[in-house]
Amino acid sequence: MSPQLKPTDPAYWMLTDGYETVPVTHSAFCYICNDPEYAQMGLPLCRVCPSCGGHIAADDCECDDCDFIEPDGPDEEQLCLPS
Ligand SMILES: [Zn+2]
Ligand SMILES: [Zn+2]
Repeated sequence: MSPQLKPTDPAYWMLTDGYETVPVTHSAFCYICNDPEYAQMGLPLCRVCPSCGGHIAADDCECDDCDFIEPDGPDEEQLCLPS
């Protein structure tokens, strides 16, 4: 007998639909694109490059395909501070 999560459980949302992120791009070489759990947990996914339509990884701010740097990438990690 495995305990069922109740709707009041803090982890319950992970089991419900509606938090799924819809992938907008895909790279065969990207671990985020190839792990469906990222989308299922509603985490930020990789983005489409506004310059070439290529792939920008969710944990990066630089396009894999054309080296375009997204000026406002993920703020929380502060990955894209000018150096
Ligand atoms: Zn990706
Ligand atoms: Zn690009």
